[in-house]
Amino acid sequence: MVISIEGVSFTYPRSDRPALDGIDVSIAPGEIFGFLGPSGAGKSTTQRILIGLLQGYAGDVRVFGRPPAVWGADYYERIGVSFEFPNHFLKLTARENLHAFAALYRGPTRDPDALLDAVALADDADVRVAQYSKGMKARLSVARSLLHDPELVFWDEPTAGLDPVNARRMKDLARAEQAAGRTIFLTTHDMMLADALCDRVALLVDGRIAALDTPRALKLRHGRRVVRVEGEDGAGEATTADFPLDGLADDAAFHAALRRGHVRAIHSQEATLEDVFLATTGRSLG
Ligand code: ADP
Repeated sequence: MVISIEGVSFTYPRSDRPALDGIDVSIAPGEIFGFLGPSGAGKSTTQRILIGLLQGYAGDVRVFGRPPAVWGADYYERIGVSFEFPNHFLKLTARENLHAFAALYRGPTRDPDALLDAVALADDADVRVAQYSKGMKARLSVARSLLHDPELVFWDEPTAGLDPVNARRMKDLARAEQAAGRTIFLTTHDMMLADALCDRVALLVDGRIAALDTPRALKLRHGRRVVRVEGEDGAGEATTADFPLDGLADDAAFHAALRRGHVRAIHSQEATLEDVFLATTGRSLG
């Protein structure tokens, strides 16, 4: 496992309730793992522990087999972080930022321009970061997180503020990085992104993991097991009817619906991850 978290709890000083309340997560090499939860759920706290910024937790945390605090400076050669440090050099351009940060690493680093292109910032490479929007800064952080070719990256809301075309590029980047063997720990509110990209997701609420599985398994578990037939009756009026998936082959009403009039569409009623989140936690992510 790249990351192993067992029974981890953490309470901030002077806080009367735990920010993390006994969480267990294991992440395999090359996995894209989504950490989903509303604001205040404990996502940042978990990430801070994983990157070694927070200590004093109860339970066991290992990254590459050792607790983060035990790792020395070489830990930061092996992980890439796109959160907590939105401390870009604001007076420098994006390209200058990447060159400046590349100089801090011991090993070889990747081409800043290729990275800027991959995060949809090529056109703004020469703009001072002070003029960047929050979303642009987040994407620059993603580019930075990859500079030194780390084995494990932590990405926070990489698609925030992106239009669909550029959100697609970010997904492509994530898949390409995964194909190159990297493990990606992704924190997001974006259920569509998590669904499209993540091998597994954890739903975090109030410091607890409410569900953890592949998006498909979660959606199947929470989906309505019905098939919806949309059609048109003889008078051209739209019709909709739902039939249970179980016993469909012998469902006379279903067969009648198929024979009657014109069928426009047939869908099984899969839940979305958003539905799963709501059903599991009683909360929406919004
Ligand atoms: P998320 O990243 O999911 O929004 P956080 O990990 O930031 O959640 O927060 C989890 C809980 O811990 C929240 O109740 C939050 O108010 C609390 N918390 C976060 N940071 C601090 C801090 N520095 N001091 C005290 N409480 C904190």
